[in-house]
Amino acid sequence: MSGVMNQKTGKGAVTRFRKILEEKGTDIRTRMSTGSFAEIVHRRGEPSDEGDLSQQSHEEWLFVNRNQLEITVLKQVDAALRRIERGTFGVCLECEEPISNKRLEAVPWARYCIRCQDRHNALSDASDIVIEEEDL
Ligand SMILES: [Zn+2]
Repeated sequence: MSGVMNQKTGKGAVTRFRKILEEKGTDIRTRMSTGSFAEIVHRRGEPSDEGDLSQQSHEEWLFVNRNQLEITVLKQVDAALRRIERGTFGVCLECEEPISNKRLEAVPWARYCIRCQDRHNALSDASDIVIEEEDL
């Protein structure tokens, strides 16, 4: 099974990526279960004038949007962890070529190599989500 693992993504690197992915997964789960969600629900019950209301629904929209993004990333993170278990981490799901370390550093849960990703992007389909550093 370990033969599938490409030379570039060595065992040490995989261990490190696993740690990053596990932390990311825990981070997202924690963030989704606490804080802002309860806050939004709470604020919904408060009386507000129209200006507030549109501001509020904009915030809700941002929140829901962000959460959907996080749920998508969480799924990709979990899938990447499963690929580590199977020993196929770091290999493109489509062309089975190794995904470059540079790409994995940026997106540890990447499913496709940059070439296949570009093709998917062009078709606006199944893109790997890239989250920049926390914007909080
Ligand atoms: Zn590929």
